[in-house]
Amino acid sequence: MKKLLLLLFLVFPLISTDIKTETTQPNEAVYICTKSKLKIYHRNPKCRELRKQCNASSIRRITLKQAEQMKQKACKICFRLQNN
Ligand SMILES: [Zn+2]
Repeated sequence: MKKLLLLLFLVFPLISTDIKTETTQPNEAVYICTKSKLKIYHRNPKCRELRKQCNASSIRRITLKQAEQMKQKACKICFRLQNN
């Protein structure tokens, strides 16, 4: 029984990351601010949070995969809006 519980704990995070990768594609374009110290990527280049941190010339378009490799986090505003 203990073994089964342990297995569940090991498998559960794998399942949840699978769901995450299904909804977002690694080659999807995202936008970051090269001047900002906040490591946040945006789905929408016109996101108000991105505009607040950044002027248009420092916005860079990268792929979602690159953003994740750079340990960037998804912007709560534009990602939540698109998902709902
Ligand atoms: Zn955003």
